[in-house]
Amino acid sequence: MEYFAEPVPPAGVPLICDASSDFVSRPIDVSKYAMLYAGAQKNAGPAGVVVCIIRDDMLEKVPANLPNLLDYKALAEENSLLNTPPCWSIYIVGLVLKWAKGLGGLEGIAKRNQTKAGLVYKAIDESGGFYKGHAKSDRSVMNVPFRLPNEQLEEQFASEAKKRDMIRLKGHRSVGGMRASLYNALPVEAAQELVKFMKEFQQKNG
Ligand SMILES: *Cc1c(COP(=O)(O)O)cnc(C)c1O
Repeated sequence: MEYFAEPVPPAGVPLICDASSDFVSRPIDVSKYAMLYAGAQKNAGPAGVVVCIIRDDMLEKVPANLPNLLDYKALAEENSLLNTPPCWSIYIVGLVLKWAKGLGGLEGIAKRNQTKAGLVYKAIDESGGFYKGHAKSDRSVMNVPFRLPNEQLEEQFASEAKKRDMIRLKGHRSVGGMRASLYNALPVEAAQELVKFMKEFQQKNG
């Protein structure tokens, strides 16, 4: 599932978000957050770098005696250069952002991601119950988890998909079944291939 609108916290309570899963996948209204944290490794670049957008007044609330690793005030004061930065990871994030700009920025990226997710959800919804999605509303645009009629078919689905170079479809950590990850790096054509395969698989096994 994915939040498409920010929850409104009670007055005085800062809204803090771990946006690792959808950061750079669509526009986010940063002004609504006291702090936004995101690991780059899903949509923005390689592992090893995180982006933290934090309101100045929050920096004043950083408790003393925190290790530097967790002390955003210390990090901000040193321009995020408290330690040797992971230059390569940051450089790649820069390239990804330029690439996103070329696709129409976050609006363009969002459209592209919605197209991919829309294709897969449509295949699920039109399968007459052969494929069953987990979420009914607020469906994640990034990860589409779904189940097949039984675990044996799920095994078979995953292994036949693998033969077509569609890997890591098996196994959502907590809910089981399949999970199609559709992060920025995945092209629309890949989602189209998956849908084609889903239809063929259902025809043979449904
Ligand atoms: C993916 C994710 C994590 C974990 O990231 P790793 O890649 O496993 O380090 C943590 N929080 C959120 C919100 C995520 O989407």
